[in-house]
Amino acid sequence: IRRKLVVGNWKMHGTHATNEALLEGLKSAGPLPCEAAVCAPFPYLAQAAERLARSAIAWGAQDCSVHEQGAYTGEVSVAMLADFGCRYVIVGHSERRALHAESDQLVADKAQAALARGVTPIVCVGETLAQRDAGETEDVVKRQLSAVIHTLAHCVGEMVVAYEPVWAIGTGRTASPEQAQAVHALLRAQLAAATPRAAQMKLLYGGSVKPDNAATLFAQVDIDGGLIGGASLKAADFIAICRAA
Ligand code: 13P
Repeated sequence: IRRKLVVGNWKMHGTHATNEALLEGLKSAGPLPCEAAVCAPFPYLAQAAERLARSAIAWGAQDCSVHEQGAYTGEVSVAMLADFGCRYVIVGHSERRALHAESDQLVADKAQAALARGVTPIVCVGETLAQRDAGETEDVVKRQLSAVIHTLAHCVGEMVVAYEPVWAIGTGRTASPEQAQAVHALLRAQLAAATPRAAQMKLLYGGSVKPDNAATLFAQVDIDGGLIGGASLKAADFIAICRAA
């Protein structure tokens, strides 16, 4: 049986002071029934690392460079993240695909760079509203995942996958548990054709997960937790979502 995982994606929010309060709030929640992590902006990773040391909550980054090192001004390598204990890195978030023109292959290469340094990539896939309305959801998520499967080859089983329908992100319009489960089942079947570890892999759902809808989403057979945006910025909400897992 797969242990649930709930990951907060803080996106580009917060200050040193607000993070201090948020991290204290998370720590003071005590034992959680699931695995949990927060993905903070780069300047605050050290703060998260320090505050979450000796807690059950892991931390991660929201992106990484595809390159090992070198003349890449402004980029952050996986080696740098791994250097001080980073456990996860989100790759291929729809905001990076859309706003920074990240291709399926670049996302796959970032996932490979992460695994090469022992950092678990959380690979995001998901369709836009126009794609869903055109009946292309299955094709889109399959294409996004297939680039990663081919690139990671025998390491496929070590990543976490997050299904985040773009139309559900930050809109308050959550995918129904049935809609989300249907895509998760497709993704798991695609993974099963590539790795014997598919049944153990964690597939997260993301997109307007809140304390009041988390439990029904997490009750679906192929949904192993969530990737939480807005609700991860409030300790009480994030903890309530973890408790629903
Ligand atoms: P919201 O939870 O704010 O909809 O964001 C989801 C998301 O993009 C997490 O990566």
